[in-house]
Amino acid sequence: MLIKKIALMNECSICGDDFEGMGNNPDPINDGRCCDKCDCLVVIPARLMQLGVGIHAAIGVGRKDYALRKALIRERETGIPSRA
Ligand SMILES: [Zn+2]
Repeated sequence: MLIKKIALMNECSICGDDFEGMGNNPDPINDGRCCDKCDCLVVIPARLMQLGVGIHAAIGVGRKDYALRKALIRERETGIPSRA
């Protein structure tokens, strides 16, 4: 079981932390794959800013998305519905 878990781990091309699963496309920040945290707090805001969204709004969208993803993961792990 441990071997199976290790095989699913990948390294984020932005922050270098390990993450489980497929990860996310880090374009336009980097190549490879990135973790959810970098996707929400770096990549999504960068893409929104490329579209002309202001930095504060772009970061706000990314932070909201990250909170939602964390709530969904917690809900899946605990079986307790989140209020987010
Ligand atoms: Zn990362």
